[in-house]
Amino acid sequence: MIVVFRPGAEEVRIQDVIERLNEYGFDVHRSSGVNQTVLGAIGVKPEFDPRNIRVMDGVAEVYRVTEPYKFASRSWKKENTVIDVGGVPIGGEEIVVMAGPCSVEDEQQIEDTAAHISACGAAFLRGGAFKPRTSPYSFQGLGEDGLKLLRAAADRHGLKTITEVMEVGQVEPVARYADIVQIGARNMQNFPLLKEVGKLRKPVFLKRGPSATTEEWLMSAEYVLSEGNPHVMLCERGIRTFETYTRNTLDLSAVPVIKKRSHLPIIVDPSHGTGIRGKVIPMARAAVAAGADGIMVEVHPNPDMAKSDGPQSLYFEQFVDLMAQVRLIARAIGRVVRDAPALA
Ligand code: PEP
Ligand code: MN
Repeated sequence: MIVVFRPGAEEVRIQDVIERLNEYGFDVHRSSGVNQTVLGAIGVKPEFDPRNIRVMDGVAEVYRVTEPYKFASRSWKKENTVIDVGGVPIGGEEIVVMAGPCSVEDEQQIEDTAAHISACGAAFLRGGAFKPRTSPYSFQGLGEDGLKLLRAAADRHGLKTITEVMEVGQVEPVARYADIVQIGARNMQNFPLLKEVGKLRKPVFLKRGPSATTEEWLMSAEYVLSEGNPHVMLCERGIRTFETYTRNTLDLSAVPVIKKRSHLPIIVDPSHGTGIRGKVIPMARAAVAAGADGIMVEVHPNPDMAKSDGPQSLYFEQFVDLMAQVRLIARAIGRVVRDAPALA
């Protein structure tokens, strides 16, 4: 249930309502804007009559949130959430670009990539140090050494970092080196992991599970939000369908669907979404046109020798083209992709 106060409602009135809701046994979460306060009352109380709250002083409106997710819903928060990641806003006018290799492999690889993507206007360096691989015989990542290499390369080029955490025990080291903590598609419903990152104050990047409905995905976001971490962004990375000519089917309709249902930023990953480098640029363009708040793209200095996801990783020249194209599309819809400092 949501309780909306009149603009400028006095603090004592707000406290009265919080007290009353607590008496009824609700768990109360507060969101205060510039001149309006909203309370979210969580709990199933079939015998409770919302009119008891509606009549209290200072209250403008009381309504039930019909969706099973509460804090993730537009009903709870009407305006878009903008997450400030060390001065880079995600979810505002700017469309952010996150780029880098699938895995951090060695110092030269991540350094060359960081130099290139920052010269093209990307804001975030991605790269996995703990890799969720389908085969136990495939490269599993460099672990903490990979985190250090990622951080150092990003710092040398003025970039922020995003990297994946696969289990509860990795949350602390990953959060130490990363600006955004990524939950991979395979872990979208790893509830203990979601709860753990919900205790962080770092932004969380929640990838959609390969066979998750939008509702299941938003319920996973709710796990993080309900632990008290409001900095959650969603990532569409393709779902499993009957199609075989692409690795996954990139569900771009998720962008407007999420925008309607939720206030959280949505990023699109056309690399895992298609699995084929030749399909990445068109789908990145489409993602921006559809209203995504950012794109995550795999780029590698030598994709043919990559230790993971080479076939979907862009060559450096392709990344230059991608940036130029998405910049134009962003402008056409009243948004911006930052300029390339070296190519301006
Ligand atoms: C990744 O970003 O490298 C990755 C493993 O992605 P996903 O979880 O979407 O498969
Ligand atoms: Mn990958």
